[in-house]
Amino acid sequence: MQGENAQKAETPLIDPFGRSIEYLRVSVTDRCDFRCVYCMTEHMTFLPKKDLLSLEELDRLCAAFVRRGVRKLRITGGEPLVRRNILWLFRALGRHLDSGALDELTLTTNASQLEKYASELYGVGVRRINVSLDTLDPQKFKAVTRWGDLTTVLRGVDAAEKAGIRVKFNAVALKGINENEIEDLIRFAHGRGADLTLIETMPLGDIGDDRTDQYLPLSIVRARLMERLTLEESPYRTGGPARYVTVKETGGRLGFITPLTHNFCESCNRVRVTCTGQLYMCLGQEDVADLRAPLRASPDDALLDAAIVEAISRKPKGHDFIIDRRTKKPAVSRHMSVTGG
Ligand code: SAM
Ligand code: SF4
Repeated sequence: MQGENAQKAETPLIDPFGRSIEYLRVSVTDRCDFRCVYCMTEHMTFLPKKDLLSLEELDRLCAAFVRRGVRKLRITGGEPLVRRNILWLFRALGRHLDSGALDELTLTTNASQLEKYASELYGVGVRRINVSLDTLDPQKFKAVTRWGDLTTVLRGVDAAEKAGIRVKFNAVALKGINENEIEDLIRFAHGRGADLTLIETMPLGDIGDDRTDQYLPLSIVRARLMERLTLEESPYRTGGPARYVTVKETGGRLGFITPLTHNFCESCNRVRVTCTGQLYMCLGQEDVADLRAPLRASPDDALLDAAIVEAISRKPKGHDFIIDRRTKKPAVSRHMSVTGG
């Protein structure tokens, strides 16, 4: 049944605002081998394993979206590469690249396990990945990630590049932590021929600390960079929220993702599924559709398909992020590690 479905193209997913949904992000686990300060508390309670979609269910779910026109799949988490047997899922999803239904299969990773997996990921068709790297200082790296080791991460990045996978770096701008290091990160990434994207902290999930302490507006980062570097507006777009400049001195590309100060919803072509099969039509809204129940109700995909179509008909026009400076509560209560970045 699934085999037959996989061959059959179905009506594309177009939301009420005419945006066609071509990009799916899938979180495969809420667990992680790091505890980044802006993402998790040190003693996170993770979901019971039975609540997570199995790898087979994740494969069925992705196939249902691919049949309806999704052309780009990003696997994320938590840390996707700590999920047991994750290569099985990548291999299974690679068949959509082979058939031409999918343009890109990619992942966002902290790179801690990349040395082990890089060549196999290349083997199943992964050609580009996003690596999160907030600092190049080993002590700060430990302080930000709590459990991470910079040397292991850099070895992972080397392994990916050696395998033929292009790396794009993401760094969250953090007040008092990496704010004096942004230029070093730019030179590091561009020196390797890689793009760097800076991200503002987003108010997602309770992380125990005062989030307003970490918040560093990218408008400030940008103004400071412009005192030292020449930033030229770039027309480059990925269909995502980043806006790019070219750094004249390095020749490399620098992206800015500013969800709190900028609206990027008009061109949004993406939806997200959590590791428990909850479909979020917008990162900044609470509305959600459960895809796990229809997945588990029947081995046939009819219920799943109907649930996906119904959910996309509810995709909202835009988001509503704010850090409430009085209550200091996040605008959206779930963690980034649940929805995936
Ligand atoms: N563990 C992988 C990683 O770190 O790349 C994938 C999942 S992680 C949740 C995805 C991205 O979300 C990372 O680049 C991380 O820096 C970012 N992120 C996590 N919490 C965030 C927050 N509160 N605000 C902004 N970005 C956040
Ligand atoms: Fe883990 Fe990524 Fe969250 Fe850091 S940002 S704790 S690496 S999921």
